[in-house]
Amino acid sequence: MKKITLLGSTGSIGTQALEVLDYLNEYEVLALAAGKNVQLLAKQIEKYHPQKVSVQREEDVKFIKSKFPSIEVFWGQEGLMELCSDTKNDIILVATSGKIGLKPTLRAIENKIDIALANKETLVMAGDIVMKKAQENNVKILPVDSEHSAIFQCLADKNNEAYKLLITASGGPFLNKTREEMEKSNALDALKHPRWHMGRKITIDSATLMNKGLEVIEAHHLFNMDYNDIKVVIHPQSLVHSFVEFVDGSMLAQVGFPSMHIPIQYALTYPKRLKGIKTDGFNLYGQTMTFEKPDFKKFRCLQMAYDAGKEGSSATVVLNAANEVAVNDFLAGKIHFLDIERTVEKALEAHNVIHNLTLDEIFEIDTETRKKYSV
Ligand code: NDP
Repeated sequence: MKKITLLGSTGSIGTQALEVLDYLNEYEVLALAAGKNVQLLAKQIEKYHPQKVSVQREEDVKFIKSKFPSIEVFWGQEGLMELCSDTKNDIILVATSGKIGLKPTLRAIENKIDIALANKETLVMAGDIVMKKAQENNVKILPVDSEHSAIFQCLADKNNEAYKLLITASGGPFLNKTREEMEKSNALDALKHPRWHMGRKITIDSATLMNKGLEVIEAHHLFNMDYNDIKVVIHPQSLVHSFVEFVDGSMLAQVGFPSMHIPIQYALTYPKRLKGIKTDGFNLYGQTMTFEKPDFKKFRCLQMAYDAGKEGSSATVVLNAANEVAVNDFLAGKIHFLDIERTVEKALEAHNVIHNLTLDEIFEIDTETRKKYSV
């Protein structure tokens, strides 16, 4: 049995990853890390018997210890770092949300442990550092995000023969709404994603199309492609998960039922392909597929993500931090939907880009931005 640790085991990706592990029966769960949902974590401990766990808050350590006295329990960022220091791991799934995944991912890479990466913020904040470190340590960064998994599958290690990447986007719940309608939308409207059931932060990012912008930045780092060669295509049916256009004009696409089980499983079985949970459920007969250019004027977050990506370094740190605080403020009912893009725009306009950042500088800029732009 191979050994795995799951960071974010109680989230949307984490729980689906555990379903994949149940089905595969190839992995032993060495450790689990959750945020505040310790009730669900306790159920997962009962089922998977990990040796170690980590929780977000110190006060939850006692609860887990009282139920499972023989388990090692850690907490906070240090807890995640501890789990990522265990070299018995063959792979670590990073499925926490937001910036908390970055330092633990780097720790795992330093320990030469392969990464199945769902947490796109890690690459948006520090893609240069993470990819360089992975290369130096000969560590695989296996994409879990469905679009990047699709590109990874189409490329099949032929990055130098790729001409363009075309990342598909469902368009989210506001694809056919006007900006006036978007402005009046509340969190409930924005959380109604037509295709995917995901965590709250990524669902709001899908409504602004910032998620697609973050994915463009993620693709730039993962596949070493120039921003001008990464295009976004609106494809509301979410059946094609992305395309690669090759230098000879040939295009490959990865197509499948819109389920995260498939990319999660591919990251965990790579380079093998094994029978999957959903393989009997997808029928192409009667399916319609449409592809459109995105409206950059309506979805300004997408344009800002491209611009910040091209600027590089600190611009993407500011983009990510301002967006994250604005999304939280929107979810808390403190700002309107379009204030999310206004906040990001204000933060980027006020920022003078700095290049070649250290990790400490990245966290400084991140903290400063969050402080300045949260309501
Ligand atoms: P969720 O919000 O559903 O889950 C987030 C997970 O992270 C939960 O287990 C949560 O714990 C945990 N967590 C949050 N904060 C902390 C913290 N400070 N310390 C430790 N654990 C923490 O998010 P998703 O699963 O939707 O997304 C996770 C990542 O994957 C994101 O970066 C997202 O962009 C990316 N992604 C998600 C996709 C999806 O389909 N959901 C698709 C592609 C990428 P708890 O719930 O216990 O508080």
